[in-house]
Amino acid sequence: MTQPVTIHPLVSPWGRFGLYSFFIDAPEPAVVDTGIATSPAEGMAPALAAIGRRIEDVRWILLTHGHIDHVGGAHALWELTVRKAQVVIHEADAPMLRSRRAHVEEYLAGRGRYLNDPDGEAKVTAAANAVISGEMEPSLLVKGGETLSLGGGVTVSVHAMPGHTPGSVAYAVDGQSAVFTGDAVQVHGAANGFPGYTDPDAYRASLAYLRGDLRPRHLYLGHPYRRADGTPYGVELDAAQAGEAIDQSIAAEARVARAACGCLAAGLAGTDSPYSPFARAAGDLGYAGDPTLEPSPFFTSMHGYRTHPQSPTGASQP
Ligand SMILES: [Zn+2]
Ligand SMILES: [Zn+2]
Repeated sequence: MTQPVTIHPLVSPWGRFGLYSFFIDAPEPAVVDTGIATSPAEGMAPALAAIGRRIEDVRWILLTHGHIDHVGGAHALWELTVRKAQVVIHEADAPMLRSRRAHVEEYLAGRGRYLNDPDGEAKVTAAANAVISGEMEPSLLVKGGETLSLGGGVTVSVHAMPGHTPGSVAYAVDGQSAVFTGDAVQVHGAANGFPGYTDPDAYRASLAYLRGDLRPRHLYLGHPYRRADGTPYGVELDAAQAGEAIDQSIAAEARVARAACGCLAAGLAGTDSPYSPFARAAGDLGYAGDPTLEPSPFFTSMHGYRTHPQSPTGASQP
């Protein structure tokens, strides 16, 4: 058994969000998630310098999923390593690293259908242009089940965690139960106060796998996700907090599932509610957040229930 590796959070602000990356201080150093275009130079480099590490020595860029606030800085960070770092992403989310347009297509196919914003496509295009540092081919495509060697006996295993996005993964530092889940554990959501996932069944199954199989002793989250009362968890959770956050995520999804299924069963009807055509679900949940604020998790998740009809166990649990 090797010495435990040290893990440092690296923070860069972005609007209403805090963007978190994590530095794994292994012989071949890794950074989990990359924030946006400016994050590597403005957030990571000085934070690493402060702990006596150099950004150019990073050898692994481990992406938990393809959303812009996680892959946006990947190309810039890769350039700062003189293109020596290996860039890792699940194959299902790789289009989001390869192409800015993929982010626009994802918007149009999902939440954009409900937002009725004539400028929506242009806004998402502008955001993708502004915050994604470059389009690139990943060095390594994963599916889950792989083990990456970071030197000195330090290994990281890759675990498929679909649901938030099709290609969400968890990275686990083997032997110390330190698990990075990006946005795969939503609890009650981050700044928008609503959990976001494209496939509810997969999201539920991934949470059960995390709780039952991975059993993190240290859990690292992509954002300060909120409890039911609105107070945020931190992004570095101990075993007890991790168990609570996972359980709360499972409970929150079950509650949203019941409301979504009641709404779908009643039949969707367009109204002038900002939650239309899911106003009934928002009402049942008492959700009063602005559903139009990007990344619009309310519409992403509701569309998920609409396109992934519930198995009986999913919707009927108490
Ligand atoms: Zn995300
Ligand atoms: Zn995120």
